[in-house]
Amino acid sequence: MDIKCRCGKTCINPAPEILKNIDLLYSSCARCDTVQLKKFSPLARQVYLNEIDNDFKSCRCGKRHLDAVIAHVLKIMIDEGVKDEKSSLRNACTPLITPAYPLNSAPYLPENSLVILSNDLNKNCAKRIVNEVSQVKGVLKGDLRETVGIKDVNFNPNVYELLSGCDIRCDIVQTPYGALCIHKHQGKTHIEFPKVKSPKIEILRKVLDKYDAPSVLDCTCGPGTLGIACLKAGARFVVFNDLWFPAVTMTAINLEANGFPVDSWDSKKEIIAEGENFKIYSLDIRELEKVLDEKFDICIVDAFPGVDTTEFVEAAGKLGKEVVVI
Ligand SMILES: [Zn+2]
Ligand SMILES: [Zn+2]
Repeated sequence: MDIKCRCGKTCINPAPEILKNIDLLYSSCARCDTVQLKKFSPLARQVYLNEIDNDFKSCRCGKRHLDAVIAHVLKIMIDEGVKDEKSSLRNACTPLITPAYPLNSAPYLPENSLVILSNDLNKNCAKRIVNEVSQVKGVLKGDLRETVGIKDVNFNPNVYELLSGCDIRCDIVQTPYGALCIHKHQGKTHIEFPKVKSPKIEILRKVLDKYDAPSVLDCTCGPGTLGIACLKAGARFVVFNDLWFPAVTMTAINLEANGFPVDSWDSKKEIIAEGENFKIYSLDIRELEKVLDEKFDICIVDAFPGVDTTEFVEAAGKLGKEVVVI
């Protein structure tokens, strides 16, 4: 399966490539400019806005401090009239770096390493940001407080609108079986901020420890994180499923990126994709028992926070010996 991004750029990469120099990716070189901007005080009171362009605090090494990047973004927003001169870095936008990696200090960003989210943007402004700020790869319009994705078959999916560029982002998820690189369309998948240790992986590990090469059904797989972790841990077979179609497309891409080749892909078929030891479906969890005749060792249900999982657990109970709600 081809894992090129639809935007034509190199947004999707095999995990070994991403992880190779990850520790140094966001660190400064000896020449990088330090940036001392106050986050809560109006930017216009701290610097001359017309002096902010792509050279502002950029280094010859190609990186630039996050605050300088956001200052540039905010300057364009003020130019375009979507923010006023009283705006500060703090209320400019939500910066989402990619690959997402837990950091101890503010990152120095290389090219195409940032997706931004704000509710105050329009297309024109977004286009300018992507064209003029080299670190920004995509601009989304939306409210951080609204969770993205599909909660249940009865809900309309909530998505962030992609105004310009590309919203593919990669989360690096640490697991006891190795780090995973999980790509997602950030406008269509909920945001997870990077953690040193993922609580979901911790719960999963405790379950996996009880089995030797189990079969696993990941009922609500999203971009595939938990199911791929199971394969990494030596699961015999994993079935991935998510009702939200954009999620299973990313599952397939992430399987490939993390070393599990996808042999066939057909969005019109019931089994959307297959590989040596996995299959991918996009069905309502309650429909799964009609198409699966195997009983799995473990069924994973990873539902939206606050969603009643009773029906999910009941449906999963028919398919697996142990249901794990994560
Ligand atoms: Zn892309
Ligand atoms: Zn530098």
